[in-house]
Amino acid sequence: MLLTVGSMTIDTIVDGETRRTIDFLYPAGTAEERAEAETFSDRITGELVMTIGSYLVRFGDRVVLFDTGVGSQPVGTYIGGALRSALLAQGVALAEITDVIFTHLHADHIGWATQNGQPFFPNATYRCDRRDWNHFVSPEYEIPAWEIVSSTPEHDAARVRLAPLADRMVFWEGDAEVLPGITAIDAAGHTPGTDAFLLESDGERALLLGDIVHSVHELLFGWDFPVHYDHEAALAALRRVRSLAVEQHLPVSAAHFTGMGWGYVTHDGDRFRWQSIH
Ligand SMILES: [Zn+2]
Repeated sequence: MLLTVGSMTIDTIVDGETRRTIDFLYPAGTAEERAEAETFSDRITGELVMTIGSYLVRFGDRVVLFDTGVGSQPVGTYIGGALRSALLAQGVALAEITDVIFTHLHADHIGWATQNGQPFFPNATYRCDRRDWNHFVSPEYEIPAWEIVSSTPEHDAARVRLAPLADRMVFWEGDAEVLPGITAIDAAGHTPGTDAFLLESDGERALLLGDIVHSVHELLFGWDFPVHYDHEAALAALRRVRSLAVEQHLPVSAAHFTGMGWGYVTHDGDRFRWQSIH
């Protein structure tokens, strides 16, 4: 879908999806909460559909891609492959992308960053939080068990996929203006360098959440997620960005929301609720 924020346009560029049961992802949720989340599930398998892709943000001379999907080949149960066609369908050539901003460096966000050992977006400046680069690209990074079973690390790990970008990366760290109108908000926890992103233009604002949460109901109910790097910090970050979204009535989306849809979080005195933007 298309969201406009002042003179900024934000298009959804779907690369693919992955699916998991809500029981597997969110064992901490109550039966009632999980039943509510099932309204977002595949009706046949009962699995939560987690979309994977990029947000294409255009303003002024900038053509910015947030994250780069799974890539041309599947990564474990993450199925991508559509991102290039989705960009072309928007009339955007690879060479027109001016900036690639990574929300964090997990394999399902860096897939199209390079192909065959070359930057896939030839004219782009690639940007990420320095803490994630230092963590994932370090030769000392020990690949956790869940990454080993859900990817092929010799192809998909950040230190392999992003190696061709080493001399062209631009870093920020925590709270920082990444580009005029795009501000990172420190939300470390899912990974050491996970951030939220405030998009601002002409007095209007929106909030991108990356993988701070992976579903609308994770955001509403404050559920834990199995593969956070630091669970306590991740849950604190979730509550911080949720408060920001509620108090400032900001449209929000996250990289794996079903359909990568946008909505508002409201609080009715009792609990948080989701108001979808169609
Ligand atoms: Zn992800």
